[in-house]
This record gives sequence, C-alpha cells and structure tokens, in this order.
Amino acid sequence: MDLSPPNTAATAAEPSVLEWTHRFKALGPRFFTALHPTPLAAPRWAAKNEVLRAELAWPDEVFDDEHLHALAGNALMRGSEPMATVYSGHQFGQWAGQLGDGRAIWLGEAASAQGPQEIQLKGAGRTPYSRGGDGRAVLRSSIREYLCSEAMHGLGIPTTRALSLVASPEPVRREEIETAAVVARVAPSFLRFGHFEHFSAQGDTESLRALADHAIAHHLPQCHERAALWQGNVYAALLDEVQERTAKLLAQWQAVGFCHGVMNTDNMSLLGLTLDYGPFQFMDGFNPGHICNHSDHQGRYAYGRQPNVAYWNLYCLAQSIAPLIDDQDLTLAVLEGYKTLFPQALGDAMRAKLGLAGALAPESEREGDWKLVEDLMQLMATEQVDFTLFWRQLSQAMVQQGKAHTQQPETPMDLAHWATVTDLVLDRPALWAWLERYSARAGRENFAAMGVQMLRTNPKFVLRNHLAETAIRQAKLGDFSEIETLHNLLKSPFDEHPGFEAYADLPPDWANQLEISCSS
Ligand code: AMP
Ligand code: MG
Repeated sequence: MDLSPPNTAATAAEPSVLEWTHRFKALGPRFFTALHPTPLAAPRWAAKNEVLRAELAWPDEVFDDEHLHALAGNALMRGSEPMATVYSGHQFGQWAGQLGDGRAIWLGEAASAQGPQEIQLKGAGRTPYSRGGDGRAVLRSSIREYLCSEAMHGLGIPTTRALSLVASPEPVRREEIETAAVVARVAPSFLRFGHFEHFSAQGDTESLRALADHAIAHHLPQCHERAALWQGNVYAALLDEVQERTAKLLAQWQAVGFCHGVMNTDNMSLLGLTLDYGPFQFMDGFNPGHICNHSDHQGRYAYGRQPNVAYWNLYCLAQSIAPLIDDQDLTLAVLEGYKTLFPQALGDAMRAKLGLAGALAPESEREGDWKLVEDLMQLMATEQVDFTLFWRQLSQAMVQQGKAHTQQPETPMDLAHWATVTDLVLDRPALWAWLERYSARAGRENFAAMGVQMLRTNPKFVLRNHLAETAIRQAKLGDFSEIETLHNLLKSPFDEHPGFEAYADLPPDWANQLEISCSS
C-alpha cells in the first residue's frame, strides 16, 4: 500500500462552468484539511447523469472531456477548493473515535437551480483521515452507489445524488484485485451525525456551536421558527428537525424494503438523506430479520432493526449537542418525538401501499388499517414472499378488479381474479381471508381509483442485487450500457416500461449465491 502523504501538489487549472462558494470552509481549519485529489490513470466515463445535470441546470460542458478529468480528480474546476472534512462516530454500537473523509474529497458548493449543491469525489485518493486505507473506491461499489442514489430518488426517498461515474484501469486491492472508479456525488450538505460527535468528543464546545450554527444558517433555517416549540431553544429545534427527517426517512426505507446495511452514526445524514451506499439491499423475499451486510454477524442492522438503530443514532447526536441545548429534560423530550413520529410515518406509508391513504382513510380507521398491515406482513414473512412483486401485483389486481366491478357490479369476488397475487403464496386460504377483509375495508367501488394510486406508490422496479451485479459484470468487461439501462428504469420505477418485464421479475437462482461484500 502506498503510504505517501496525501497529494497536495497543484493539479492543472481547468474548466470553469460552475459558480462556487465555500461556506463550510469559513468554519476554519479545525474542520477540514485542504488537499487535492490524487490523479487517476486513464479515466473514462462509465455514466453521466443527464437527468440530474438538467435538474440542477448545470451546463452541458459538465460532461465534456475537460470535466472528465476534473470529475476523475486529475484537474481542478476553477473556483473549487478541494478538502476533506473530519468526523468521528459509533460503528456497530461502539465508539470508533476519529474517522473523517478517508476517500471523499469535497470540491465546494456549486450554485444550481436547486440552490447550492456540495460536490464530492468519492474514491479520489488518500486524505489525512484515510487511516491506512488507499483512498480509492472500486468500480463494483461505485456502480452500486451511482445506481442506488438515483433509484432512491426515483422512489421519492431523500438521498444524496450521483452526477457521474468515472472508471479507470488503475488496480485496487480488495479481496481480489479490482479497478478504481470515482463517483461525483451531490447533496445540499454532506454533514453527518459524526461531524457533531467529533467536536463533542473533543470537548470543543466552541467548534460544536459553530458547526450547529452553520448547519442552521445554511441548511436548516426553519429551526429558528421551530424553536418556538422548544422554549426558544434553537439547538433543541435542530435536534427535532433531524429527528423528524430521520423518522420519515426510516419509514420510507421500511416501506420499500430497503436495508442500508451500515447504519453507523458516521453514515447518518444531518439532512435525513440516504447516505453512503455500501452493502445495501432491496429485499427480495420479505424477512424482517434480513441482514444484507455479511460482516454484520449480530444482525445489528437487520431490516427490522433499522428504525430502532436510527433512534439509537439520534440519541448519539442528542448526546453530542446536549451541551448546546443545555437542558437535559428538553433534550429527552425532543427525542421522545421519534416514538410517535416514526410509527405514524410508517403507518401512513403502509396504508398508502394498500391504497388506503388520503380521503379513503379517516383518522378513526388508522388502527384497524394497521392491523390489516401487520397481518399481511406476518403472512408475507412466514413464506418470505417477494416484497416488491407482491405489492405491485396487488396494485395491478386492484385495477383489474375495479374494472370488472364497473362492468358487472353485482358479480361476487372470485379467488381466480386475484391469481397474480395468490400465486405468490402457498397458504392461499390465509391470503384469501386477508383479501376479503381488505376488500371489505376498501369497498369494491373504490378499487379502481385505489389501484391507480397504488401503482404510483408500489414500484415495479427496484435495484435488486442481481440487477446491479449484471451491470457490474458487464462493466468489468468494458461495457457500461447496462448501467444506463438500469438508470432509465429506476429513475421512473412506477412506470410500466414495456419490454423490460424481466427486470421486475423474481431474482434468478444464481442471485442466492451473491454475497455483497462490505469492502468497497
Ligand atoms: P464506511 O464504512 O464506508 O462508511 O467508511 C468508514 C470510514 O472508513 C470513513 O472514514 C471512510 O472515509 C473510511 N474509508 C472507507 N474505505 C476507505 C478507503 N478505501 N480508503 C480510505 N478510507 C476509507
Ligand atoms: Mg461512511
């Protein structure tokens, strides 16, 4: 391993089509180290995210040859001021001490149609926080991060975004020799719980306060108003804001069957974004105990535990900013909010999956609806029914049933009409009994409208491991086209995309053997 100091040599001055600001840098040198990315051999575009570029109204030139070098870390965009930031954190429940951007280099904030966006080059070389790591990211994990960022966005789930993916033949040693890649990722802020834990652990309250003030001023100004709910305490309001965003994020993850895999506090975004895509997985068969990270021997981050882990992580954040809130009772009271907010958000999300959201579901019926959800989940768990397929088939069946009912309102319901749903389970009597309860709750005259709504809520396409794996295998042979195909499906996962049915199918047998390594 190359243990030379991180690269501080000036790289060639280069293109300037973005307008940069550097508000984080105003915090001062305790928060970061200025340094340049390490050049990457023979970079080549593996993916350019035209959708994101257009959303941000960044010019075409962002994807020209000069920018290929800039987004690979071989040249600097004029006006950018690269740096790596320091943070700490709890990993797998243990205090891990100082971590920091070990391989992500911040270029600064670029003005965009959606406000200033921070850009990071992930895999752009060693930093003072690399702790013996090589500062690189392999093509395999970079493809997964690129695609999953955009898949989450397509699903309407808050996430960091991915602007580009640059591949290189440069060898990188993991379990075997792989090749390097750099993802340019984009977010309004990459602040993590761990940034706060860092200064708290150092007992540096002055820096802690500066960091919190920075976050409030530039990213969460609504905290000033929210402080009215918390005795005028703006730091309590900050915790409350993060608590609410995290609760809502977790509800969305659970509702779509997403397992993050490494919910360490340093991977938790202050803005409630999905952050740091590693061994994540969209579940195939539904199993609340599902563990997607093969290094997670205790199952700390199993699917069903994610909401509690998020609470635990919020507790860590609360402890770290407690000196700012300066009122223990108030701090605990803010945290309590999660215990009502998360179940409420999950309840709403699951009811929406059943088409029972909105006007069709008066407040008084929430409890009964939740029982309906629980019983269905129990049934699905017993047989590990395919999560995505089940909800999608249920949505389709509702549309079909709705049509049939409009044509012949008097015809009784027939089990055969639900075949696409009941075919997914062995215990058909149990599912049939559930379907009868569900139908009675919904009212058959509402099926058609509910079905349409459900098709906008239950995706046809998610980034299953085997889909990513196929794109990875082809990319390793130099063919990046499957990345684009997947991106096209995943950016609008609720659309039918005729001709691409195979991408919505059950995973093939070989997918069972896939072990998603934590190494990246
Ligand atoms: P992660 O588990 O990916 O969230 O990373 C945990 C910590 O290890 C962070 O500080 C990362 O920056 C750092 N890290 C992970 N992989 C590498 C690498 N290949 N080189 C340097 N630092 C790394
Ligand atoms: Mg991380």
